[in-house]
Amino acid sequence: MKYAEVSVNAPAAQRQTFSYSIPSELSVDIGQAVYVPFGQKIVQGIVIELADVPAFEPTRDISGVIDPQPFLSPKQIPLAKWLSDYYLSPLFDAVALMLPPGFERRVMTSISRTPQAADISTLNEPQQNLLNLLSQKPSLKLSEAETLLGKKRASPAISQLVETGLVERTYALERVKVKTQTVPYIRLIISREEALVIATNLPGKSRKQQSLLNLLISQSGPLPVSDAKLQSNCDSATVNTLVRKGLAAVENIEVRRAPLSRYQIQLSQPLNLTGAQEAVFKPIQAALRRETIDDKPPVFLLHGVTASGKTEIYLQALAEAVKLGKKGIALVPEIALTPQTIERFSARFPGRVAVLHSQLSLGEQFDEWQRIKNGEVDVVVGPRSALFAPQPNTGLIILDEEHEWTYKQSEQSPRYHARDTAVKMAGLTGAVVVMGSATPSVETYYRAVRGDYQLLQLPERVVPVENAPLPEVEIADMREELKDGNRSIFSRPLTQALEKALANKEQVILFLNRRGAATTIQCRNCGLVIKCKRCDIPLTYHFDSDSLVCHRCNYKSKPPQTCPRCFSRRIRYLGIGTEKLMEDAQAMFPDARLLRWDSDVTQKKDSHQDILNKFRNHEADILIGTQMVTKGLDLPLVTLVGVVIADTSLNLPDFRAGERTFQLLSQVAGRAGRGQLGGQVIIQTYNPEHYAIEAAAKHDYQAFYDKEILFRKELNEPPFVQLATLTFVHPNDNRCREEAEKMAKTLTAERDAKGFPGLDLIGPAPAFMHRLRGRYRWQIIVRGSGLPQFLKNIRFPQGWIIDIDPVGL
Ligand code: ADP
Ligand code: ZN
Ligand code: ZN
Repeated sequence: MKYAEVSVNAPAAQRQTFSYSIPSELSVDIGQAVYVPFGQKIVQGIVIELADVPAFEPTRDISGVIDPQPFLSPKQIPLAKWLSDYYLSPLFDAVALMLPPGFERRVMTSISRTPQAADISTLNEPQQNLLNLLSQKPSLKLSEAETLLGKKRASPAISQLVETGLVERTYALERVKVKTQTVPYIRLIISREEALVIATNLPGKSRKQQSLLNLLISQSGPLPVSDAKLQSNCDSATVNTLVRKGLAAVENIEVRRAPLSRYQIQLSQPLNLTGAQEAVFKPIQAALRRETIDDKPPVFLLHGVTASGKTEIYLQALAEAVKLGKKGIALVPEIALTPQTIERFSARFPGRVAVLHSQLSLGEQFDEWQRIKNGEVDVVVGPRSALFAPQPNTGLIILDEEHEWTYKQSEQSPRYHARDTAVKMAGLTGAVVVMGSATPSVETYYRAVRGDYQLLQLPERVVPVENAPLPEVEIADMREELKDGNRSIFSRPLTQALEKALANKEQVILFLNRRGAATTIQCRNCGLVIKCKRCDIPLTYHFDSDSLVCHRCNYKSKPPQTCPRCFSRRIRYLGIGTEKLMEDAQAMFPDARLLRWDSDVTQKKDSHQDILNKFRNHEADILIGTQMVTKGLDLPLVTLVGVVIADTSLNLPDFRAGERTFQLLSQVAGRAGRGQLGGQVIIQTYNPEHYAIEAAAKHDYQAFYDKEILFRKELNEPPFVQLATLTFVHPNDNRCREEAEKMAKTLTAERDAKGFPGLDLIGPAPAFMHRLRGRYRWQIIVRGSGLPQFLKNIRFPQGWIIDIDPVGL
């Protein structure tokens, strides 16, 4: 093959590949990373296809190969293309998901002098200065020239000098960000006997050489130079002397940066499956062994209440895959919140688990990636992006907590959903997918009921001890509390339960899905609500920093003494967040030890683990927190969970508000009563008869689903239709609206012309977050079937964000 189709790392490339010829001295393979010329620059690219004829002519040569081994496997290439086609993202963005950490490097511009002679008199001052600088140095980085001359003066001067041919621009990639780490080791290169003779005969002055030689003689292999120096009390000069004399050699040896070494891991054995577990394990096993007779899709939804033994099923399914000579990938919603899951996986596959996530150092990520690529691990554990780990021969993909929104990448392109991508990947590779949840997303459950996925159920907790059924849930009607004159944030039932639990030295979790102390700051005189200047949403007061914080863009300011509008001093703090809850709980229970867990107190690395350990060791009685406390924690001393306000998520303008509320409440309720002490949950709400709250209180997924799916059908929402949001972002609100209106017209015309009658266009309207970080957003919602096909042929100018299958509108 003489030609290659290359996905290039340049924004202009969009969803296309570009044709290049392969110079005869290069050997180039599919999936390989190469340097290619693109415009005037040299950029990185990945070979997507080889061909005998180019798709476009004339072609330029590939400039070089970045790494001899291909980074993408042949099966990843169609997956990358699908991501780009389906989610309408630049192809390189999709390819980049699969590349080694730290691979992407920016193109840096430099300037240098050409041999052409210059007539100084025709040049202006900045041009002369520039030539002067270039007579002292062979080349200057663009950024250097800008610092020396000033940005405004440098760039026209450079352009003019390039035009007259006195200066040329050259392009190079920035420095490599991460490499394999090596450490120098020292070892003897003569026999020990010989070394012993030499050591004893060294003159008295050479005591250091003697000591180092003796140390090396006592070693069975090489040892790090730094250790050798320390142990023999010598310095680099001594090391160099031994090397010069031909007695020892120093070599660089690769070392692995290993993130899992932070954990203390004890080997665990597979448990004997219960009857219910056996029944769900069998079909998964059959699919892995390819024994399934009818052609049911090898995609399973494992619907099981918390503590029903889903994780044990994942572990045994992975072990089965490994037994069959395959490997696995296990996805978890948020790695920082699931240290226990990582521990459980590592304990079952000691030394054969890799973790991949962005909180690791780049070096750690790079080394884990290499280990995986080399086939050294059986299981990769990580968040959504771990789906693209270079795990060879992946036979099983697990998605724990399938319903979690973190599986959708919403902030950057490609805006993919890991669940749908995993199913696609399985289709391409033949891998089996197992997704598990206590509260499956309505979409997934619908597909399982319809037969696209196989539905497996674990309706009961594994009950190793007799008394660990699902906890009792009581709903506290806050309207009644108000009527009876209770204005505190603790209802009477919750207060009593708290008193009892604390008296028994048991633990309590209080859940409130809002951070901060006061969520609205208002002037009592004129009614003004203090808002973020950039986002136009109310600012939240935080005690910790005594400041007002925007929860969207993190803008911070001092709380005002007087109203900015009417100068009244009557400023009122309304609403409640976790900080205020801490204060009120402490006032109510002065002897209780409180601990807070939300994103304000978890900025540091490992802080999640620290808080969790503290609570697990019973160094606190009450854990107060946001969503984090709802995640898969196993805390046997917790006998009471209080949901302080269940309504926060109900009031969001999103068709998934009910689903979200049900999921949160079910999860938080699942935290109670995991030990022998049993447990109780109290949900405080102003909407006690809402179906999501009622169903969560009864642990009744089916009741919730039956209601919810009817609403979805009635309102024509997913899973009955597909959605996409098209958002235009601009600093000027009017311009933003105009562009959105123009696009809506284009789309309508296009829909009618191309024959997509089933597509609804809704809007344009200001997005829910109309103003974010100082920029406005207008949104068009497209609803119907055939969305990617329809949108594929529309040209979207810069500033448009396209989100197919968005979560959270
Ligand atoms: P889930 O993932 O559904 O929350 P887990 O797999 O974590 O459930 O199981 C809950 C608890 O039950 C864990 O402590 C686990 O060790 C235990 N467990 C699971 N399966 C069995 C079994 N077959 N025999 C005994 N204990 C089990
Ligand atoms: Zn005022
Ligand atoms: Zn803001």
